[in-house]
Amino acid sequence: APILVFENVVKRYGALTALAGVSLTLHRGEVVCLIGPSGSGKSTLLRCANALDPLDQGRISFDGHEVRSSEASVRLVRQRMGMVFQNFELFPHLTVLRNVTIGPTTVLKLGQAEADARARKLLAKVGLADKETSHPSALSGGQQQRVAIARALAMEPALMLFDEPTSALDPETIGEVLSVMKTLADEGMTMLVVTHEMDFARRVANRVAVFDKGRVIEEGTPQEIFTAP
Ligand code: ADP
Ligand code: ADP
Repeated sequence: APILVFENVVKRYGALTALAGVSLTLHRGEVVCLIGPSGSGKSTLLRCANALDPLDQGRISFDGHEVRSSEASVRLVRQRMGMVFQNFELFPHLTVLRNVTIGPTTVLKLGQAEADARARKLLAKVGLADKETSHPSALSGGQQQRVAIARALAMEPALMLFDEPTSALDPETIGEVLSVMKTLADEGMTMLVVTHEMDFARRVANRVAVFDKGRVIEEGTPQEIFTAP
């Protein structure tokens, strides 16, 4: 069943058309990678899905609900879509453990003990069990991004959105983040991933959508997209 459907999405910033009518369907358990040149609208599509940006035309539905800028819609989407950004955006004044528990305790109203247990499982999963008392600034970029992934997963999202999750990382830490993402994909997590990592797209994506100038110009399996005709 489709979980996220974009129908003819148009998004303008003043005179600039960032999305010129994008349609894309994501089914449960699928990994879809968005590739294409910088400025072609990939991040904008994720921000629209996450209700960070209102649409000018078209429609997005998530799990049967239309994504709109109403408070209820924003709340649903923020709770059930996990978002991982290029620059981690962790809370610098909180420990790693508290970065991961803050969503569950404040939004989901879990008790601290339950939230801690959930967070510890996820930190172990991303290979950071020994870092729970550290602050983000003491971690490498790759470690911070893995905390950001654990933080998103702590909300038990139905879907994960990744916006160039490895673009701000030192080359030596990119692999550890991609490997966590591959594990999630193998476990059946539904993922929409903006990336320049073609090897990841080739090996992990079920489908690849190629963006250019605010449109999807090609869509298919990695084999179809990456094999020269
Ligand atoms: P990509 O993710 O493919 O690099 P973006 O979605 O970031 O592309 O950007 C698409 C186009 O929209 C670019 O021309 C970009 O400069 C423009 N854009 C993105 N966000 C804004 C914004 N908040 N205000 C104005 N223009 C924006
Ligand atoms: P990305 O492609 O990863 O989104 P950008 O540097 O294009 O990275 O965008 C970073 C932020 O700046 C985003 O929040 C985007 O909305 C905003 N932005 C991008 N292009 C413009 C623009 N031309 N005018 C204003 N804001 C922009």
